[in-house]
Amino acid sequence: MSRFSIQDFSCPVCSVPFKAKVVEAVSHEGQDTDFFPHYIGEDPLPHFIIQCTECNYCAYPDDFSIPFHKDTHPRQKQIKAILEQPLAKKLSVSAQRYYLAGKLYELKKRNSYFTGNLYLRGSWCCRQAADRRGEIELQQLAVKFLKDAVDHSKVSSPENLPIVTYLVGEIYRRLEDRVAAREWFGNVEELVIDQEQQWIIELAKKQAELNEYYIN
Ligand SMILES: [Zn+2]
Repeated sequence: MSRFSIQDFSCPVCSVPFKAKVVEAVSHEGQDTDFFPHYIGEDPLPHFIIQCTECNYCAYPDDFSIPFHKDTHPRQKQIKAILEQPLAKKLSVSAQRYYLAGKLYELKKRNSYFTGNLYLRGSWCCRQAADRRGEIELQQLAVKFLKDAVDHSKVSSPENLPIVTYLVGEIYRRLEDRVAAREWFGNVEELVIDQEQQWIIELAKKQAELNEYYIN
């Protein structure tokens, strides 16, 4: 079951104090083929990202502990501008949090692996809300940044490389880009160095087959 707590935050952008719900623990049973976990109990997905109640700044809880400093955090007008984009306006509250956090990571030129993960999670929120258009837009952003992370060795650890490579293939498959999906699935096997990662080779083969023979 998911477990939450209420914590005090101080916004590093506008310096206003506020309280927010923070995820303490999660459990899941099964997952989608792009690793969206089937959470048990209350949905934690909207709460991995903290949002300032005053200026709407969105980021992971740890980002809020980076001290208030005008050069390392976005400006309020940058947050406003992102929220006024047509795509941001169309998204559900939780998807919008991930979208905004992703755009702010882009502005700060954060590691593309983390940026891609924010957009991927945003696409899961769209799936939950049955917003296929929003899901596609966020999947396109997710794949762009995750691909960059693989291409430029920015993936957090070497064991993750075959997994993220598979994930890029799977997002392409979901976007119905069969050629790109085929290419990325095809790269998984040679990246596996650990015998315990045999499962990702199996999964890549299964999804590569789906990619060839089924309509999404
Ligand atoms: Zn704020």
